Amino acid sequence: MLDELERTLRQGGLRLVYQPKVDAVDGSLVRVEALVRWAHSELGAIPPARFIPLAEEHGLIDDLTQWALRTALRQWREWKAAGLDTSLAVNISAISLEQLDFPDLVERMCRALSVPTDRLVLELTEGATQPLINMMDTLTRFRIKGLGLALDDFGTGYSGLMQLRRLPFSEIKIDRQFITELTTSRDDQVIVRAVIELAHGLDLKVTAEGVETAEQLGILRAMGCDLIQGYLLAHPLEAGDLVAWAIRHKRRWKLLIRPSDEQQG
Ligand code: C2E
Ligand code: MG
Ligand code: MG
Ligand code: MG
Repeated sequence: MLDELERTLRQGGLRLVYQPKVDAVDGSLVRVEALVRWAHSELGAIPPARFIPLAEEHGLIDDLTQWALRTALRQWREWKAAGLDTSLAVNISAISLEQLDFPDLVERMCRALSVPTDRLVLELTEGATQPLINMMDTLTRFRIKGLGLALDDFGTGYSGLMQLRRLPFSEIKIDRQFITELTTSRDDQVIVRAVIELAHGLDLKVTAEGVETAEQLGILRAMGCDLIQGYLLAHPLEAGDLVAWAIRHKRRWKLLIRPSDEQQG
């Protein structure tokens, strides 16, 4: 499988899909997260959760990350030309942060494609933020260059609070597992409310991921969550479908938030 992954990457056989993230207050499109897809000719779709770790273990991840960044930045330019003004999020592996020249490389890519660095956010999974030797340095360099940094899957790692204190993040993404039963679980409500407050106290934006129902959206809006992402708003989309989605979404948003407004009123 490793050989096949390598060959697929070299031959341009991987692709990116893009999941919108919207402002919880007014529903506007704020950001689009790039997610890699591998459609295997015999095995069908292989989820990133299976092949990303493989790429990390076998030295393929830096090439994969650079391909993803370049592809997503090019796509951003096309959307921009089509009148869609959004920022971009790309997932990166903690391993890549060991290279101290990675921030320079990303900055050069942005410049080559005329994407302002402050339109790019790198998402780093909490579980992957074991203290690496150069991580602090690399993340700081990114921030100095104007990029955003999101702590992804917050709540799933073993030392999230320590990482928040130490590392220069600009955003937290609350993991889907705290959102799934938000409507019925008092515990999850307590945790999510506290995380939102914690984030705001530290001047960080907070995103809820995995939002699937209008009820969850209503609760998160009432709690002051900044950004929303999940199947309720959009599944990950093909690049060419984003503009049409954005138009449909504007109308749909008004319908989505009506029930929670009635509850409040
Ligand atoms: P992630 O960055 O936390 O991405 C969110 C995952 O949740 C995505 O799965 C997305 O399709 C899924 N998702 C989004 N909304 C919902 C929802 O409402 N309900 C449910 N059940 N799922 C939802 P995906 O695409 O399979 O990606 C899994 C993970 O693989 C990502 O988690 C990310 O950590 C990693 N990944 C994906 N693309 C890349 C990449 O280009 N580079 C690296 N290093 N990692 C990547
Ligand atoms: Mg992510
Ligand atoms: Mg996530
Ligand atoms: Mg996740």
